[in-house]
Amino acid sequence: MVQRHSRLFAVLEALDNGKPIRETRDIDIPLVARHFLHHAGWAQLQNSEFADYAPLGVIGQIVPWNFPLLMLAWKIAPAIATGNCVVLKPAEYTPLTALMFAERAGLPAGMLNVVTGDGSTGAVLVDHPHVDKIAFTGSTEVGKLIRLATAGSGKSLTLELGGKSLFIVFDDADLDAAVEGVVDAIWFNQGQVCCARSRLLVQEGDEARFIAKLKRRMETLRVGKSLEKNIDLGAIVDPVQLERIRSLVESGRREGSAIWQAGESALPADGSFYPPTLVTNVAPASILAQQEIFGPVLVTMSFRSPDEAVALANHSRYGLAASVWSETIGRALDVAPRLAAGVVWINATNLFDAAVGFGGYRESGYGREGGREGIYEYLKPRAWLIRSAGR
Ligand code: NAD
Repeated sequence: MVQRHSRLFAVLEALDNGKPIRETRDIDIPLVARHFLHHAGWAQLQNSEFADYAPLGVIGQIVPWNFPLLMLAWKIAPAIATGNCVVLKPAEYTPLTALMFAERAGLPAGMLNVVTGDGSTGAVLVDHPHVDKIAFTGSTEVGKLIRLATAGSGKSLTLELGGKSLFIVFDDADLDAAVEGVVDAIWFNQGQVCCARSRLLVQEGDEARFIAKLKRRMETLRVGKSLEKNIDLGAIVDPVQLERIRSLVESGRREGSAIWQAGESALPADGSFYPPTLVTNVAPASILAQQEIFGPVLVTMSFRSPDEAVALANHSRYGLAASVWSETIGRALDVAPRLAAGVVWINATNLFDAAVGFGGYRESGYGREGGREGIYEYLKPRAWLIRSAGR
């Protein structure tokens, strides 16, 4: 169904969210279809793989606005593949593709229910006595509220929350490839990505050369309206979110960080747009190095040794993702397990595979979506002990 209506889904998602149509058409919607295909395989394993497991029941699912249909797929595919029913609340900014999906999915009545509304509707779902599990993707602040609200209720809970993820460039990295990696890691979807690698750590020695290359590449990025086909960044989802980005960057400026922006003059005259932004002279404990900005803003720092890179990386309340760039695989494999990051890409960015569990540590939440781990988040184990006749 997703593939049959892919053009309509792509246009609707771009209009509703403001992200480039090129991304909804080539990334969001194909990933949605792949997620369902992958989980269709798990559904066929009900009797063999899950004989000692039962579905949880009714799942309340709350999703954010940055990838509305993709987050819907990540939520409902494993839930229905394991025999649960779902009540899903899309984000208030972006409900359209969820409504269209529910209308056309052709699922048995009651299996998938979409309820629109803002955070207060989400809170009603969280508190509802007939809901057996809450699966939430959104901000760490709301995640904490939901954890408190469900404590002692017997409801299961998984939380996919915020991040301040890393991009580490070693001095033996292929710098041109790493520059392309950085562009994808932070400016994809205007930086409104939970795992956006918003902290860049470059090994001393190469720093000036790398930053110069990156700035040249940033000058080529085009910001425009979602239905224009040749843009790299679209709009920020909402004026409130735009103001949040602006005020965080201003507080960084007041703390003494240097702000560099590419192509500010080329922003569309009307709408919520923010240029690709690079922040240097950042202290590790400063606001811009610590707080999630959820916009197209990259902060850079340098390191001398792998140990210092690990220490800087882990100086964070979050623990979601990292990209490590080096031509020496042993070097990357030495650092990767020491990072507080649920997902590590080596010489790569943004590889999202339905067969691999995605999720974080620390205040980035817990539970996994995708892969075998994601399936078991929607099942409860059940033991069968049967006395045989005559014993
Ligand atoms: P948000 O927490 O404000 O909203 C997320 C969803 O929760 C929305 O549907 C909203 O209506 C609902 N909500 C708000 N208050 C609620 C409450 N009290 N009870 C129940 N539901 C409530 O987050 P956002 O601004 O929409 O999304 C951005 C955040 O999401 C970022 O922090 C980002 O890192 C995070 N995110 C994480 C992942 C991940 O997989 N880890 C993926 C995407 C986004």
